Amino acid sequence: MSRQKIVAGNWKMNKSLKDAKSLVEMILSNTKDSDVLKIIIPPFPYLEPVKQILSARKGFYLGAQNCHTNTSGAFTGEVSANMLQSVGCQYVIIGHSERRNYFKEKSTDFVLKIREALKHDIIPIYCIGETLEERKNGYHFSVITEQLTSILSEFKLEDFSRFVLAYEPVWAIGTGETATAAQAQEMHAFIRSVLCDFYDSAIAGNTPILYGGSCNAQNARELFQCPDVDGGLIGGASLNEDFCTIIGSF
Ligand code: PEP
Repeated sequence: MSRQKIVAGNWKMNKSLKDAKSLVEMILSNTKDSDVLKIIIPPFPYLEPVKQILSARKGFYLGAQNCHTNTSGAFTGEVSANMLQSVGCQYVIIGHSERRNYFKEKSTDFVLKIREALKHDIIPIYCIGETLEERKNGYHFSVITEQLTSILSEFKLEDFSRFVLAYEPVWAIGTGETATAAQAQEMHAFIRSVLCDFYDSAIAGNTPILYGGSCNAQNARELFQCPDVDGGLIGGASLNEDFCTIIGSF
């Protein structure tokens, strides 16, 4: 995907259908048209109704929080990229730390999920991030390198050129503790250097890299001013009017 400003709201497992519809209507009426690409990522049952509300509005896209490794079949409780495509999803989050941590998903799962997503013209938002312990012990760069290269080694440059990346330090997700702008910039620049070594400088410069982890209406502007930060993947603050302020924070 070409480099552009992006704000994506991951609603996780929140809201009733009625509240989901009200939230998306509120977001639309409080957001001016701009060059920021906006992605709404509701729970699966709300994808279609949210799509209906979004469809008339330029610059807004629909995303899903997960997809299965297979296209169809006897996988009770799962949702495939094929199904997501059929309801108009254009993005899917893969590798979120909650999937890594609670559902024990690994790089081998992410590779299969990303292949499914790309096969169905859905752009993967691939999340990477270190834990607090890893950072404290000075392993954060090696953890990020491993999370990235385990995926990059499975995808040719043409495929990777369709990715969005999200740097989400685990210690900042849902904790209220945000990475400083300097920490975010340092890691985003490092991620580009890994991409440059693995592929080339063009892909390193063109890949959108979002920051995620307690990004909010107060700190978004400072984070988005960092030269290597292209926007945010937002959790808690995507559930209310703060999301509109964040979209306007470039
Ligand atoms: C996330 O879960 O991707 C996230 C960034 O959450 P929060 O903004 O709530 O930290």
